[in-house]
Amino acid sequence: AAPVRQDFIRQIVREDLASGKHAAIRTRFPPEPNGYLHIGHAKAICLDFGIAAEFDGRCNLRFDDTNPEKEDLEFVRAIEDDVRWLGFEWSELRHASDYFDVYYRAATKLIEQGDAFVCDLTAEQVREYRGTLIEPGRNSPFRDRSVAENLDLFARMRAGEFADGTRTLRAKIDMASGNINLRDPALYRIKQVAHQNTGDAWPIYPMYDFAHALGDAVEGITHSLCTLEFEDHRPLYDWVVDKVDLASNPELLASLTERGLPVVAAKPRQIEFSRLNINYTVMSKRKLTQLVADGLVDGWDDPRMYTLQGLRRRGYTPASLRLLVDRVGISKQNSVIDFSVLEGALRDDLDARAPRRMAVIDPLKLVLTNLPEGHSETLTFPNHPKDEAQGTREVPFSRQLWIERDDFAEVPPKGWKRLVPGGEVRLRGAGIVRVDEVVKDADGRIVELQGTLDPESRPGMEGANRKVKGTIHWVSAAHAVEAEVRLFDRLFVVEKPDDESTGKTYRDHLNPDSKRSVTGYLEPAAAQVAPEQSFQFERTGYFVADRVDHTPARPVFNRSVTLRDTWAA
Ligand code: ATP
Ligand code: MG
Ligand code: MG
Repeated sequence: AAPVRQDFIRQIVREDLASGKHAAIRTRFPPEPNGYLHIGHAKAICLDFGIAAEFDGRCNLRFDDTNPEKEDLEFVRAIEDDVRWLGFEWSELRHASDYFDVYYRAATKLIEQGDAFVCDLTAEQVREYRGTLIEPGRNSPFRDRSVAENLDLFARMRAGEFADGTRTLRAKIDMASGNINLRDPALYRIKQVAHQNTGDAWPIYPMYDFAHALGDAVEGITHSLCTLEFEDHRPLYDWVVDKVDLASNPELLASLTERGLPVVAAKPRQIEFSRLNINYTVMSKRKLTQLVADGLVDGWDDPRMYTLQGLRRRGYTPASLRLLVDRVGISKQNSVIDFSVLEGALRDDLDARAPRRMAVIDPLKLVLTNLPEGHSETLTFPNHPKDEAQGTREVPFSRQLWIERDDFAEVPPKGWKRLVPGGEVRLRGAGIVRVDEVVKDADGRIVELQGTLDPESRPGMEGANRKVKGTIHWVSAAHAVEAEVRLFDRLFVVEKPDDESTGKTYRDHLNPDSKRSVTGYLEPAAAQVAPEQSFQFERTGYFVADRVDHTPARPVFNRSVTLRDTWAA
């Protein structure tokens, strides 16, 4: 059964539906297409789309594309991909840039109402006039321009008559407000820059707060969910929505209805929740962008990255990320989630679903000398120990096996449960083996073990029930498929890589051993798979066939996560 999620936002939604305030709810996920989505965005996506689905509402994907210099269609496509991969589908795909005409008309209306003015102060002067947390700001000398003059100047800004940065359109609110966001914030700036959607049509672009609030109102968003840093912006959000009052001024929406874009024009309510923060990660588009730009990782989808594309390539599943978000919950309390919660969610998802296979990552040859030369047989293994529906697979077994080098110790430490000279272990599904001989090369390095398979201990036989210390995995050397196995670890070695109070930056905390590539040996059934298929390689971890590089002819597997929490901080 689907979990019943309880949190303060769902409570508000439930009440708004019960009281009849809304007949149906609408939400939106509003990314700026200026980078790839990261794991923090997964929380917002699960909340925005999840709530809409749970309450039979609708959720739009809206690109808040009001910053043309930093935005790119490459990001737009990746974001669409990521949202779908997480398991969600939008009701409508919208862009803030779809509304540029609405924003312009709305700004003009504000001027006519005496609620906005064109200001000629430079950016630096604006900062000086703004005041500080303890000091009120001062009115701009241009604040009392007549409506006629403001309308004329704004029209000329729009016509492209003025250079970048020479003028802004500002809201006329209160320079003495305790909330700095209300000290006559800019609504429009001049930027003679082409836009990925609208080309050269606009030399002026709306500011985020103005565009975002109106975008929500245009789409009839009932609950506009965002992270806590926007709490201080809510009074401005409400000011914009109320002063423009789209619902009573449908003529502002003419350009949309002409284009056949459905509009609802309702009054949205902004509700803030705490961001997802995870230790040992950096989570901001800017820093993730920097890691790629500086070549510190191998691209946006590097399996060590905390982008959704990186996590996907690492083997994180959509279900594991949704599970993480459920476990973290929704509140207004800022907190940092331990990295083990992320890894735990992946293990729990894969434990239940991922088929089991045997693979040897660090091979050592084991020869069963009492089997005839050339001996080979086929054993049948379940694909999943707890899920019979997954069926079985055939695993070849023969006289020469690969086992893990660290499953043998010449001088065992205390409590050792694996192979030792003269000792016995069970070979998973094949019988009990004893090591008779340790073969070394001239440098004393162990190159081969020779052993005896107890013929009375084969599966199903009476002798198989004999107690031995441990069970190890193996693959038949003659049948094994060579694979590139990529072993990843956390990208950062400290809990708070972006804490700069120590004078260091996140680059100083990169884990030098976060990536290793080895040649491993797989049982044949592990190689014949499509990219992005996940497995548990018994006793070694969860692995995924690499999304980009894997082919059955040249298998490449990424370790997604170890079986247990082995991180030593
Ligand atoms: P960042 O600052 O981390 O680079 P952003 O906030 O600039 O990201 P947007 O594209 O503006 O990225 O974000 C889209 C939505 O995702 C916003 O509603 C934002 O609040 C939400 N979001 C961003 N980061 C997180 C996070 N760490 N946890 C939860 N929601 C987040
Ligand atoms: Mg943003
Ligand atoms: Mg941000």
